[in-house]
Amino acid sequence: MKELIDILKRDRKLLPEEFAALINGMSEEDALYLKEQAFQVKEQFFGNKVFTRGLIEFTNYCKNDCYYCGIRKSNVNAVRYRLTLEDIMSCCEEGYGLGFRTFVLQGGEDLRYSDEDIEQICRSIKNKYPDCAITLSIGEKSYESYKRYKEAGADRYLLRHETADEEHYRLLHPESLSLKERKQCLWNLKELGYQVGTGFMVGSPFQTAECIAKDLAFIKELEPAMVGIGPFLPHHDTPFKEYPKGSYELTLRMIAILRLMIPNGLIPATTALGTIHPMGREAGISWGANVVMPNLSPVRVRKQYELYDNKICTGDEAAECRSCLQRRMLTVGHEIVTARGDFIPYTFEAEGKENLCTM
Ligand code: SAM
Repeated sequence: MKELIDILKRDRKLLPEEFAALINGMSEEDALYLKEQAFQVKEQFFGNKVFTRGLIEFTNYCKNDCYYCGIRKSNVNAVRYRLTLEDIMSCCEEGYGLGFRTFVLQGGEDLRYSDEDIEQICRSIKNKYPDCAITLSIGEKSYESYKRYKEAGADRYLLRHETADEEHYRLLHPESLSLKERKQCLWNLKELGYQVGTGFMVGSPFQTAECIAKDLAFIKELEPAMVGIGPFLPHHDTPFKEYPKGSYELTLRMIAILRLMIPNGLIPATTALGTIHPMGREAGISWGANVVMPNLSPVRVRKQYELYDNKICTGDEAAECRSCLQRRMLTVGHEIVTARGDFIPYTFEAEGKENLCTM
C-alpha cells in the first residue's frame, strides 16, 4: 500500500482499481504513512495557515427530496426560514469585522429567490465588501442563471456531485434528479470561470469502495479548486434515518488522499467532521485539510438548517464560533488567516518553486 501512496503523491492520481484497493486494504500503519505524506504536501503549499469562510445558511426551503437530507421537501417537521437581504448583509457586516474575507451563501433549492434576488445579494455584498469573495452553494441552476450570478460578482460555487456512480446516485435521490445533470452543472460552472468545489459524503448508504474510486476519478477529471467531504450522518426525519453514519477514520483518509491528488486544493475540515467527532476538524487539518467554515447565520435560525442530527455550532454567536475555531486550530499548530484564500493554479512541471500560497 505504501507504494500506491508514493505513486499517488508523485503522480497525483491512481487507477480506479488502485484507489479501491487502497481504500479496502489500508492498514493502520499505511494510514499513518498516508497522513504524514498529506500533511507534508499541505505544509509545502500552505504552511500552517488555515483559510476561513463565513457560512451563511440563508434558506432551508428546498424543492428537492434527497433521501439523506434533513431539509428535503418532504420533511414536514422541518421548521422553514428564509433570510432577507438585510439579514444577509448584517451577517456579512459582523463577519467582515471578525476577519472573514469570503462569504459562502448556502441554501436549499428555494425557488422563492429569483435570479434577480441572487444577483441583488451578490451585488450588494460586492459593493460593500469589494475585497471579499462570494461563494454560492444553491444547487442546480441553468447555465444562464450561473452566468448572471457570476456577472453579479459571485466568484466561487460549491456543488457536491454526491456520488459519481450512476446506480448509487439513483439510490440516494428521487427520479427528478440525475447525476448527468449534476455533472453538467459543474462543467458549466467551470466554463463560466468560477472556482468550483465539488465533493461527496463518506459512508452514504450503499456506498462501496468502488463508488469512492469513481468519485476520485471524477474529481481528477473535473480538477476542482475545492473539494468538500464529510461523513454521512443520519437525520431522524429522512428515509435514511436507520442507516449507520459514515466512518470518521475513512473520512480522514479520504481528506489525505484528496490532498495528495490536489496539493494546491482548498479542502475544508467540515462541520459534519466536527459533528462525528469532537476533535474532527482539528484532525481534518492534521490529515491535510486547510479550510474551516464557521457559521455566520443568525443564531435564531441555526438549529433549523438541520441537514443531519446533532449538528454542532448551532448555539454560538459568530464571534464565539470564530474564536473557538481559532483556538482549536492552535491546538494543532495552525492559525486562521484573514484572507480571501483563492485557489492558486500551480504548474506541477515547474516543481521546486517556492510555496505559491498567496494571501
Ligand atoms: N442545495 C445545495 C446543493 O444541493 O448543493 C446546497 C445545500 S446541501 C444541503 C449541502 C450538502 O449537505 C449536500 O451537498 C450534502 O452532501 C450535505 N448533506 C446533506 N445531508 C447530509 C447528511 N445527512 N449527512 C451529511 N451531509 C449531508
